[in-house]
Amino acid sequence: MKVHHLNCGSLRPLGTPAMVCHVLLVESDNGLVLVDTGFGTLDCEDPGRFGHLRRRLIRPALDRAETAAHQVERLGFERSDVRHIIVTHFDADHIGGLADFPDARVHVTTAEAFGAMQSRAIQNRIRFRPPQWAHGPKLVEHDVDGESWRGFAAAKELTEIGPGFVLVSLPGHTLGHACVAVDAGQRWLLHAGDAFYHPGTIAGAPPVPRWTARLERLVATDQKMVKDNHIRLAELYHRQDPDLMIVCSHDTSLFEHAKATAQQ
Ligand SMILES: [Zn+2]
Repeated sequence: MKVHHLNCGSLRPLGTPAMVCHVLLVESDNGLVLVDTGFGTLDCEDPGRFGHLRRRLIRPALDRAETAAHQVERLGFERSDVRHIIVTHFDADHIGGLADFPDARVHVTTAEAFGAMQSRAIQNRIRFRPPQWAHGPKLVEHDVDGESWRGFAAAKELTEIGPGFVLVSLPGHTLGHACVAVDAGQRWLLHAGDAFYHPGTIAGAPPVPRWTARLERLVATDQKMVKDNHIRLAELYHRQDPDLMIVCSHDTSLFEHAKATAQQ
């Protein structure tokens, strides 16, 4: 499948290098599929929708030209061509664009949907932004367990979309966080969402900038789980599977490398 790498939200968090919101747009036999959405047009029109405090912390560009909706149309597609959206988690910088694709089926882990939409826990009520799903997205919740994928014990192939899409449970950043593996033809892409923030975390070098590490800890729900995930992702990285590329949501260099080496 052909995969486009889109930056759907430039970020300038205080004290850290600039970041992106790395979104995958996949041309599948079953229509277009997005992995995460980044920010949406409604975020650009009403920045308060994202939350004032976090806006000051991570300083998103909120540029309409960066939204997935705009980039899908610029590539010559209609928004309605997007049939499925797979989300790594429900943080505001990952699902702001859901309302731009109201007819798409939105795939998420059951744990994440519960944490964001139903949990009364104070940390969840502070963290998640109900205006971003006020339009009533067509949720498809997945219990991810049982199957394994490249050493990860809990995974689920999303057969409703078609072959080549796997949801890999990796809680820690949020309690329902997942990675998404996509068969991109010449290689598999593992979009790790916010399971790590910087390539040095899984490769061992270059060193992770101090404030990037602090930001990652600050927004982690369970730091022990996040550290365990780092170890498991580093093991996978060091296996150097020739047909696998690991990316994450916010690192600019991984985004640029994936984009430059994507099959045209
Ligand atoms: Zn994020």
